[in-house]
Amino acid sequence: MGEMAQFNLILLGPPGAGKGTQASRIVEDYGVPHISTGDILRSAVKNQTHMGLEAKRYMDAGELVPDEVVIGIVKDRLQEPDTANGFLMDGFPRTIPQARALDASLADLSRDVSRVVAVLVPDDELVKRLSGRRICRECQTPYHVYANPSQREGVCDKCGGELFQRDDDTEATVRNRLNVYAEQTEPLIDYYDEQGLVARIDGQQTPDKVYEDIKAAIGPPE
Ligand code: ADP
Ligand code: ADP
Ligand code: ZN
Repeated sequence: MGEMAQFNLILLGPPGAGKGTQASRIVEDYGVPHISTGDILRSAVKNQTHMGLEAKRYMDAGELVPDEVVIGIVKDRLQEPDTANGFLMDGFPRTIPQARALDASLADLSRDVSRVVAVLVPDDELVKRLSGRRICRECQTPYHVYANPSQREGVCDKCGGELFQRDDDTEATVRNRLNVYAEQTEPLIDYYDEQGLVARIDGQQTPDKVYEDIKAAIGPPE
């Protein structure tokens, strides 16, 4: 049997780097599903599931949800048929144990990570971005009150959904999330560098230019 061309992509980068913004574009052009552990967890919180109630206290504090919880989420998600030709992971993995678990799950499916896109932005800019971020309640599209406002205030351009500010986009929580990123997630860049998979992208450019650089790094859509 021939090798199936797969596109198993990971978007890595600090909170506020623009992963969600770029993910919308990538999934549209490349036809792979967007797997955001943050979106999945927020939906569990909204639906008040057992997992959501457990996750919420970590999320509100800007801490990571325990590895076994998010690893379970991703393993289940990878069983869905829409991931057969690839996926875009956004916000996962975030720790070395999560990265090892993903490698093991993919190996079980005779698959592997194709490319890791690391979107990099300095901390002071991240604080500005996160404090002005607004998200669509329905489709999760991110906006920014100054840098990327919706046409009608408080209303999503794409679906008409209501925009809201996330509970964890407050200054104190943002600072903790940046520390957590530096301690637990940034080491993943080395982890994937050892496998020769990382493309570093300057995230402090316009969203269009960032996307141009991503396409150049991963190859244009078919
Ligand atoms: P992440 O998913 O990495 O946390 P988002 O895509 O939600 O990041 O972006 C964080 C905030 O920054 C949002 O308010 C978004 O509108 C804004 N943003 C995204 N990309 C850029 C950019 N290139 N320049 C300026 N602001 C941006
Ligand atoms: P951002 O990119 O803005 O940091 P996310 O939406 O990716 O936000 O994540 C929001 C929160 O959800 C995180 O601060 C964390 O509490 C939790 N979370 C999301 N993904 C993971 C993960 N892979 N491991 C642990 N916690 C996670
Ligand atoms: Zn929307």
